[in-house]
Amino acid sequence: MSAEHDLVVIGGNAGGLSAAVFARENGIERVTILEAGSAVALRDVVGPNGLDVGYGEKVSSIDLDGDVLLVTTGRRTYRTHAVLVAERPARDDWTPEIEVTNRERVLVDQLPDHSAGIDVLVVGHTDHAVELTVTLAEAGSSGVVLAAGGMDPGRLSPVAETLLNRMERERQATLLYRSLPTQIGEAKGFPMAFFNDRRTPDLQFDYVVFASGRRASTPAEVGLSDAALATGRVWFLGEPEEAVDGVPMSPGWRVGRELLASAFPDVEVPEARPERRRGFPEVIDELRAEHYNATITHFEPTHSDLWVLRVKPDHGSVSHLPGQYASLGLGYWEERIDSAVDPDLDAKFDKLIRRSYSISCRIFDEHGYLSDDWTSDELEFYIVLVPPTPDNVPGLTPRLALKKPGDRIYLGPKVAGRYTLAPVTDPAGTVILLSTGTGEAPHNAMVTELLRKGHHGPIVSAVTVREWADLGYTDQHRELEKRYPNYTYLPLPTRESDVPKRYIQDLITADAFEKELGVPLDAATTHVFLCGNPAMIGLPEEHDGEERFPEVTGVVELLTDRGFTLDRRNQPGNIHFEEYW
Ligand SMILES: Cc1cc2nc3c(=O)[nH]c(=O)nc-3n(C[C@H](O)[C@H](O)[C@H](O)COP(=O)(O)OP(=O)(O)OC[C@H]3O[C@@H](n4cnc5c(N)ncnc54)[C@H](O)[C@@H]3O)c2cc1C
Repeated sequence: MSAEHDLVVIGGNAGGLSAAVFARENGIERVTILEAGSAVALRDVVGPNGLDVGYGEKVSSIDLDGDVLLVTTGRRTYRTHAVLVAERPARDDWTPEIEVTNRERVLVDQLPDHSAGIDVLVVGHTDHAVELTVTLAEAGSSGVVLAAGGMDPGRLSPVAETLLNRMERERQATLLYRSLPTQIGEAKGFPMAFFNDRRTPDLQFDYVVFASGRRASTPAEVGLSDAALATGRVWFLGEPEEAVDGVPMSPGWRVGRELLASAFPDVEVPEARPERRRGFPEVIDELRAEHYNATITHFEPTHSDLWVLRVKPDHGSVSHLPGQYASLGLGYWEERIDSAVDPDLDAKFDKLIRRSYSISCRIFDEHGYLSDDWTSDELEFYIVLVPPTPDNVPGLTPRLALKKPGDRIYLGPKVAGRYTLAPVTDPAGTVILLSTGTGEAPHNAMVTELLRKGHHGPIVSAVTVREWADLGYTDQHRELEKRYPNYTYLPLPTRESDVPKRYIQDLITADAFEKELGVPLDAATTHVFLCGNPAMIGLPEEHDGEERFPEVTGVVELLTDRGFTLDRRNQPGNIHFEEYW
């Protein structure tokens, strides 16, 4: 009897599905997937690609009958020409390399028993990490974050890449491409993740799940006979270094190409996946549809390089606390306003550029009442164009510059940030918000919220800009000052002839708050919020195990000298900060 299948793929995970789709696309006709469980990683690819799937099919042996391979499961025997073992079992010997305090709620390759409604951090950068994240999102976890520091999307299988894009588009999970936890601590019995980059705040979860990366199946685990192995038509999904005893490895679907060509000499397998034809309008439309999940509903230039915009997502909530930030993204395929050329554009052409943006606030609603934007279905942002320099070709803002209302954009799934009003608990206390440029954005939201909640202590918002024209919200702030005598807006243009040049630091050294506004800088009653240029903030830096302030004196040093303390991880203080770079 001859073979009834051309290729049997064992395991309906992203790698197995990708290899199966690739085989079908390259003329291998009868491709069957045997999945031990009841679902494959991405159902949508099964029908359209003409794949057969047998569910609940646990393979017990792979043998040879004449020239035909026999794959036997608990239910039946499949006669096939070639086999790819895509199943990759968990690695029992694997433990996270970082310090983990709370073992009970930190799992490896395993999901919590009840995933609905809980917050879970998945750590890993492989197909498997993506699969775990999707499973959690589909099980109804309310906040799934994938920390995929070091992920190279080009190394994911196409199915995993599709799953990742879909999760992002539908805002089902937050993806941190650059972050990795350096420690999983514990706070009130729950795991607390501390990250390797200052930008990602410490986050608390119900569970943390590490994706181990898995290992290749062994011949013994699928009952592979020597005769079947000797055909060279049974391959295992895995890296070359995982090979034992001459077992052929197929590092994912890509090298599957060479193996396919060797097992099916009559089929012409192309050299590589055809590149998307860059620059074609239909390709750009397709990329936009694939990645964007929100619409720009409002785009108002304060001047040509400074914009207030509003973004409305297709799915999900935008509820947030005043002061927090979200992420916006546009594809490298979008045109730039300047003539700079992005390095490696060819390699990145179909990828998104994502950046963080503090959520601003329109301050008054359409009826003239103080806005409560944080419950609306849109988010407001205040963004400045960053020009190219010899060292840097900015990615996002030169593309945003060409957008208008109605255009599509990417909005990250989750609003985050510790820079909020949570520490301000005394309505009679003093709140001073100091910023540079668009660092004013979160302060707009915070001032509005403080006043809405009846804060009656002094509130001052000061911002340095170059020119008067660089202020996007002056009218609203002046109106606030009229209505609320405890509020002062202090714009500080540094390049205007009608006002003396003053930086934020000068306000403190000259005692301007006390002398000009009658607001003493008293560490016992004041919270200071600092946002924008890191040089203005001036965080202490570690040198040889010792903390030192930067050479150019920043606000943190000046305030520390006056008895203020920096608010840090696990050490509350009254200086709060958000650095923009
Ligand atoms: C938590 C957070 C919130 C942020 N909120 C805002 C916001 O509300 N509005 C906003 O305009 N930007 C904000 N940023 C900065 C923003 O994320 C991008 O870095 C910025 O828009 C530049 O992106 P780009 O891709 O065009 O340039 P990139 O290639 O990312 O260039 C980065 C460089 O641009 C310069 N730069 C970055 N941001 C600014 C800025 N705001 N003003 C002047 N120079 C800048 C710095 O020199 C920085 O090194 C925020 C950053 C963080 C981390």
